[in-house]
Amino acid sequence: MKIYKNFDLTNYNSYHLHSVAENVFFPETIEDFEEIIGMQNLNVIGGGCNIIFSKEKYEKENFIFVRENFSGIEKISANTLRVKSGTDLKDLSVFAMDNSLSGMEFYYDIPGTVGGATIMNAGCQGVSFSDFILTITYFDVKENVILKITKDEAAFGYRKNIFSNKNVFILEVELKLSEGRMDEIRTLMEKNKEIRWNKQPREFPNAGSVFKRPDGFFVGPMITEVGLKGKKCGGAMISDKHAGFIINVDNATASDIMNLIQECQEKVKEKFGVDLNLEQKII
Ligand SMILES: Cc1cc2nc3c(=O)[nH]c(=O)nc-3n(C[C@H](O)[C@H](O)[C@H](O)COP(=O)(O)OP(=O)(O)OC[C@H]3O[C@@H](n4cnc5c(N)ncnc54)[C@H](O)[C@@H]3O)c2cc1C
Repeated sequence: MKIYKNFDLTNYNSYHLHSVAENVFFPETIEDFEEIIGMQNLNVIGGGCNIIFSKEKYEKENFIFVRENFSGIEKISANTLRVKSGTDLKDLSVFAMDNSLSGMEFYYDIPGTVGGATIMNAGCQGVSFSDFILTITYFDVKENVILKITKDEAAFGYRKNIFSNKNVFILEVELKLSEGRMDEIRTLMEKNKEIRWNKQPREFPNAGSVFKRPDGFFVGPMITEVGLKGKKCGGAMISDKHAGFIINVDNATASDIMNLIQECQEKVKEKFGVDLNLEQKII
């Protein structure tokens, strides 16, 4: 296991916020996780594509990165895969395509890891990661035990599941995909990516949608209507391409982003009576 002191987190979060962590671990085996589990103040990070590092320096916290250091895909039957949690979603999507398996097409363009997608129940256009999950194996940090549960036991909903209130290391998932045609799978992956890149501010560091979608409303249009599209605070800006995104245009700090978040929440509540709940996780 690689262990680092005073580790620069700038390239480990998709906002590219500058932050330094005193203790960082990159576990490679179950034994590595066992070593870590007794420590206090554990923060698990995958691709860092849905988080806001709110501090410039983390002294007491221990950061556990689960990415390429704990990755791998195994085909266990004609249409089921066993995937380690640090596996990159794009790599998973390409693996599925190479094996003529359909289901992971949208994940070609959703940045992050399988562990992050499980915790967030990531998805788009009505597709959720849980649609494909058969089982989840995780380390329960409090109980110090490895458990394997089914999708139903994980009680998935929109961006939530039983892990929302638990301290866990997701270790691996089993996914059920469907057999498809490689050329059609590839076309859908590319088409979806093109549509998204035309709508989203991909030229600037960001962490995807800032807020969860409230029932019956669309976040971007509401923020546009209250006049905040393009609004800047320090180095952060509400994207003028898609108001549901905040982008880092010039060395933004976490407080620049948090100020814009608060302004969106206040103005949208005032005009529409709607609470905007954060999708992104503040660490
Ligand atoms: C350009 C862009 C577009 C995006 N589009 C979408 C989209 O269409 N749909 C969507 O749902 N999301 C989208 N996102 C957000 C993000 O890609 C997803 O939420 C993704 O699943 C995050 O994965 P991650 O590995 O980066 O998680 P992180 O950001 O690292 O972590 C997210 C949460 O998961 C936890 N976590 C991560 N790995 C583990 C693990 N192994 N064990 C336990 N806990 C873990 C973290 O503690 C944290 O609470 C987008 C982001 C960007 C930058």
